[in-house]
Amino acid sequence: MKTYKDFHVGILTLQGDFEKHQRQVRSLGAVPEAVRLPGDLIGLDALIIPGGESSTMSVLIDRFALRAPLLEFARTHPVYGTCAGMILLARKIEDNISGVEPLALIDIDVRRNGYGRQVFSFETDIEVTLENGTKTVRGFFIRAPKITRVGEGVGVLAEYQARPVLVRQNNILASSFHSELNDDLTVLKYFVDILL
Ligand code: GLN
Repeated sequence: MKTYKDFHVGILTLQGDFEKHQRQVRSLGAVPEAVRLPGDLIGLDALIIPGGESSTMSVLIDRFALRAPLLEFARTHPVYGTCAGMILLARKIEDNISGVEPLALIDIDVRRNGYGRQVFSFETDIEVTLENGTKTVRGFFIRAPKITRVGEGVGVLAEYQARPVLVRQNNILASSFHSELNDDLTVLKYFVDILL
């Protein structure tokens, strides 16, 4: 049986919803590690950028001198961004009034709060197509960003209302929705398996 016990999965813990990711990483049998400073990236196998507030996280990334180390880490390791994390991984943010500076690690454009401010949150079943077939996962959309453009090199692994909501380009994975709010480890397992 596959074991994840030697996998150290970093979670950016500058701000936002990182505890649920830590819990899921632990449930998978891997080791969650908090990332706040550049040195925290040393020795990690993968990194998750959680949901939260992308404008705040963008400022904190620069305040903690994390931008260059994050870009360097992402050249050779898997990185998964959920919700605000996806915004930070995107190439471009539409109507970027808050001046979020994305890392441009995946060739998508996004619109913050693209699923509507009035419907602050909803959850729905999402069909995800992974290497070993199609599975249904519960997606939690919390002031979620909408993907408005997908570049040629980006694979769409799931859609909601004919829009991509889970996308991958090489070692970078991003979802509009939160996948960490229940005990379903499907997306996390898929992400960690990029390492294998
Ligand atoms: N609306 C938030 C942002 O733009 C994202 C919300 C979330 O991560 N749940 O950063």
